[in-house]
Amino acid sequence: MKDIELIVDFHKEAIRLAPGSKEETLKALKLTNLNLSNELNIADIGCGSGAQTLDLARLTHGKIIAVDLFPEFLEKVKEHAAGQGFKERINTLQCSMDDLPFEEESLDLIWSEGAIYNMGFQKGLQAWRRFLKPGGYIAVSELTWLKDNRPPELEEFWSGTYSEIRSAEVKKEQLQQGGYELAGSFTLSEQSWMDNYYSPMLSRIPEFLKRHLKDKKAENLVKEEQNEIDLYKKYKDYYGYVFYIGRKV
Ligand code: SAH
Repeated sequence: MKDIELIVDFHKEAIRLAPGSKEETLKALKLTNLNLSNELNIADIGCGSGAQTLDLARLTHGKIIAVDLFPEFLEKVKEHAAGQGFKERINTLQCSMDDLPFEEESLDLIWSEGAIYNMGFQKGLQAWRRFLKPGGYIAVSELTWLKDNRPPELEEFWSGTYSEIRSAEVKKEQLQQGGYELAGSFTLSEQSWMDNYYSPMLSRIPEFLKRHLKDKKAENLVKEEQNEIDLYKKYKDYYGYVFYIGRKV
């Protein structure tokens, strides 16, 4: 199995592929000031298995297009959408986030939880802006330093894993430079990491290792994830996911 196939296999039964929660999706949505009784055109980019896509469907009217690079995740989105009565409102699109086919000024809202890092925060914000209607909103969650004077062990890990990690001040500046005005921001809770993301991940590990018995790559993947979780437990005050909500100007 290729590395990427192994990663997809590790996550494919997950409800969430990044920290997040229903409550925080709602909180971010409220910060947009969009009129939620209107029929909105929404894109959820890097939707994974669609936890937040389904929440958005419940909270809004109109259409949502759920985009991901991997069909395995989009199959889950389709299953959940059909099972929860949103078949007509949620469409899926297999596509890379840096090559989106949307029409200019066609979307009211661009959503992306724990995914824009795949393209880079600044690059993503700039590239996606043209798809928004004038006054449209973007809501993205992004890994962010919450404190200065970080332990070298932590700096080293995250600069290797996501070199664009910065403070919220820098991220907000980047958002403004990208052509948005900041409508709000907040830090995701510890429960969103531990209860909704890491704990379910830990409980999937035994089955995953059984599926890939004596596979060094699989064992290494598990070790890396466990290391990331250990670091989070030790240093969670220093970094987190911050939701940034911007309005196209
Ligand atoms: N928003 C989801 C998934 C976050 S994980 C959640 O919060 O649960 C990041 C997602 O981005 C994964 O589903 C991954 O498949 C997707 N992804 C990675 N690279 C991508 C790319 N180039 N284009 C589109 N999606 C991508």
